[in-house]
Amino acid sequence: MSEFWADIGCEIHAELSSLNSKLFCCCPITYGAPPNTATCPVCLGFPGVLPVVNEKAVEAVLKVALALNCKINPVTKFDRKNYYYPDLPKGYQISQKYLPIGYDGWLEIYVNGKAKRIRIADVHLEEDTAKSIHGEEAGDPTATLIDFNRSGVPLCEIVTYPDMNSLEELEAFMVSLRQLLLYLGVSECRMERGQLRFEASVSLRPKGSEKLGTRVEIKNLNSFRAVLGAVEAEIKRQKEILISGGEIVQQTMLWNEALKITEPMRTKETAHDYRYFPEPDLVPIVFSEFWLNSLKAEMPELPRQKFERFMREYGLSDYEAGFLVAIPVTADYFERATKVCKDPKAVANWMLSDLQGLLKEAGKSWEECPILPQNLGEMVKLMQDEIISVRIAKEILKEMFVSGKSPKQIVEERGLVQITDENELKQIIEEIVAANPKAVREFLSGNEKVLGFFVGQVMKATKGKANPQLANKLVKEMLEQAKVKAS
Ligand SMILES: [Zn+2]
Repeated sequence: MSEFWADIGCEIHAELSSLNSKLFCCCPITYGAPPNTATCPVCLGFPGVLPVVNEKAVEAVLKVALALNCKINPVTKFDRKNYYYPDLPKGYQISQKYLPIGYDGWLEIYVNGKAKRIRIADVHLEEDTAKSIHGEEAGDPTATLIDFNRSGVPLCEIVTYPDMNSLEELEAFMVSLRQLLLYLGVSECRMERGQLRFEASVSLRPKGSEKLGTRVEIKNLNSFRAVLGAVEAEIKRQKEILISGGEIVQQTMLWNEALKITEPMRTKETAHDYRYFPEPDLVPIVFSEFWLNSLKAEMPELPRQKFERFMREYGLSDYEAGFLVAIPVTADYFERATKVCKDPKAVANWMLSDLQGLLKEAGKSWEECPILPQNLGEMVKLMQDEIISVRIAKEILKEMFVSGKSPKQIVEERGLVQITDENELKQIIEEIVAANPKAVREFLSGNEKVLGFFVGQVMKATKGKANPQLANKLVKEMLEQAKVKAS
């Protein structure tokens, strides 16, 4: 029996980084600030201090729970998770164990166009710990420093059932979940900053068997690539053990990115008894119908709905719609530009090809795009109105990218208005024909390819301003005339 089925689950911690303050105090949520500057007695865990819940954090997690189709507990409360570690000065973490904000939900993922629901066990709110900085990073290989700026930052923890059966499904889940959190505007989800952290659990069972195998948890995963690499390595490790007749030990592993293997954690993490008990310093929170309804009314359009609407409303392909809704900023950019020119296909094309290319070249993200969406829309409109050609549009795009000027301004300043006047173009073509008798003879002897040469000469002479269709038509006419005369 060598065929196995993998069951993969995830535990996700998302920092509610878009909020103004921490979970139980007024300290700001900062990144890159000098260590221990965004702290107060509450988040430093001084004796006798009392936490006050940040209502916005509760609402943010409630929105996540709603977006994940969860049932909402009408009353939610906090519990203490007790353990000792230097980054946890109180000796306990305030979390939610027994009455989480949301439970029993699902997130739909799509792999090769097929939908699958990944069940969500629990969505709850808790506080982050401080950050330990070890060894080299601390400037001393023997030292560990602690930065309390992160202590008390609100975290939304999401726990899934082990419903993912392949790396493709796992990746689709991670991408969809990140997208959802970005759309809800609760977290910036920058994994390199630790704003979105994944832990995975993996177990194997013989194909056809209903009973789940022994599960192993993997930590220390700070990118999608790390999660996928670690899960792949862990599946391989378990498979080898099972094939050789061994047994899987339930344990927590760490991902060793350099060696591409999972290694057992030294501490007996699974043996912990956290002695959860109700947090006595905080009262339970009751979700009134009014509160719930007003939050539901505030829910933004979610990625899947937007994806379907973009295809329906704008006639985009699933590839185009997928690209545009991947992050809220591109979806928003697209709609703003389209509003100006009413040509969604053209806007999508410019965004996917030239503009994306310019951003890549400059190492910029869409958030940093120097071209305003209305300016891209205006540029497309100038093309529609035949004021500029595609070639000029490409030049304008590049200039807008550098100067941030509007296309109209660039067209005016540089005199880029397309030449659509037949007489003006005819005159230019006559001169070119007269100057190239050899090419004319070639055309007369049947070489139609020379047409392209003449059109190219027209574009050159007009610095790309000639309307290409018109130039093509006029060159043809003039050469045909020459043919008639010659015969
Ligand atoms: Zn504080």
